[in-house]
Amino acid sequence: MEASDQPGDGPSCSCKIGRAAGRYGLTALDDDLVRRWTRTAGDRFSTRQLARYVNESILRVAMERADVRYRDGEVENVYRLLTDDGVSSGTRVETRTNLERDGVPVERVESDFVSHQTVHNHLTGCLGASLAEPSDEERRRRGVDRLGALRSRTAAVTSDTIDQLERADLLSIGEYNVLVTVSIACENCHGQFTARTLLERGGCHCDGSSES
Ligand SMILES: [Zn+2]
Ligand SMILES: [Zn+2]
Repeated sequence: MEASDQPGDGPSCSCKIGRAAGRYGLTALDDDLVRRWTRTAGDRFSTRQLARYVNESILRVAMERADVRYRDGEVENVYRLLTDDGVSSGTRVETRTNLERDGVPVERVESDFVSHQTVHNHLTGCLGASLAEPSDEERRRRGVDRLGALRSRTAAVTSDTIDQLERADLLSIGEYNVLVTVSIACENCHGQFTARTLLERGGCHCDGSSES
């Protein structure tokens, strides 16, 4: 079957993704992309993952139009065989040959595949989407997490160093704990806080503090 531009639900833009959405009838694509991209951190799709999502959608439609029956996960696997650097060229040729034999216009489909940069341009340029700024609460939590990770790392490097020196008989200690405390001293009132406390109380709050 020859892929053709669909009338009616026209593409929202004329960039490569807009044209592909029209050509493959991916009417919900823009909504899907924006929704997945703007989820809260952790759930959010990267533009690389979204490019894969777009390309797998293209491939799925092309296979459906050629009446190729596929099992769950098979489109994803075919996509991987076509694109993954770890796949041997022999396997890739075989995959393309099989698709062509089944009537899938492989060359056309591959030339319609999009890059993560194209996805980014489509999201920010054509759709005007932007990633929401993290909330104040989230920023604070990230700060606490970052400092916590730094403390763990400091503790790990410290005990590694002690253990190395001990193995070399350059120091001797029995069981021990490494305690890492990062303190911040206010130059104005000389109050001291652990980093965590300061982050939690949101400042020193002494009279002379000029910044809130
Ligand atoms: Zn676009
Ligand atoms: Zn102070």
